[in-house]
Amino acid sequence: DTVFLNGDYVAKANAKISVLDRGFLFADGVYEVIPVYRGKPFRVKEHLNRLFDSLRQINLSSPYSESQWLEIITRVIVKNLNVHGDNQSIYLQVTRGIDSDRQHTVSGPLPATVLVMASKLTTGESTLKGEKATLLEDIRWLHCDIKSIALLANTLLVNQAKANGFDEAILHRQQWLTEGASSNVFLVNNGQVLTPPKSQYILGGITRDLIIELCQASGLEVCQRRVHIKELLDADEVWICSSTREISPIIAIDDKIIGSGRIGATTRRMAAALQAFKSELL
Ligand code: PMP
Repeated sequence: DTVFLNGDYVAKANAKISVLDRGFLFADGVYEVIPVYRGKPFRVKEHLNRLFDSLRQINLSSPYSESQWLEIITRVIVKNLNVHGDNQSIYLQVTRGIDSDRQHTVSGPLPATVLVMASKLTTGESTLKGEKATLLEDIRWLHCDIKSIALLANTLLVNQAKANGFDEAILHRQQWLTEGASSNVFLVNNGQVLTPPKSQYILGGITRDLIIELCQASGLEVCQRRVHIKELLDADEVWICSSTREISPIIAIDDKIIGSGRIGATTRRMAAALQAFKSELL
């Protein structure tokens, strides 16, 4: 199990960072998760563009160019083929680096700490399974468009959901749907596909973008607008999506059954379109 850490390829168990790393002390950094199918990183340019955007928003310059990132990612994939197989999930993290002491104010530009590691990806081949979500208040900050490593609210929310027997926390701000704790949310109502627009309240998911493209390609317009939680609970179909979950049907939210309580036709159609899109690239 090999990871890339600050220019070196080392065994995961031997990869160590300083206690003075600002990522460790302040969660001062950003990340990406890139799915890998049959050894190829999926939508990697889109993921790197989002990384560059997150870095820009926290005033960090990218330690590597796009082609350098691609080379690092490819090498990590190749080095882990025998450990994780050819469907992997690549985790990439950049922090503001190691300062001289623990101080909020950064002492000056520091060399960034860069980690790229792989794990096994298990989605894709299996059949769709209906999942249950719980609706919780979105207690996160107001820059959810930055893929920040500060995930305390997200982890508290999803762990609360899991402890109560749910698969995901779907979040709202004052009754307006934002997204899942680690996913974006779509709903189908009277034949129309809806999802909240990109804003500071949600992460612009790479899977979300792709699903919108795939809907349009199959003649389904996606309406990107504010969604009230009443509409969500009254929807015919709901699904959540992310790079590692792809499309996951939501068949109940708390004690409310969504639609018929079974996986809807549009959900199945878009999940099939996503699998077809993936296999065309392989
Ligand atoms: N929103 C949040 C809060 C997330 O953590 C994720 C997954 N990282 C997503 C949405 C989905 O994004 P993507 O499709 O790029 O994985």
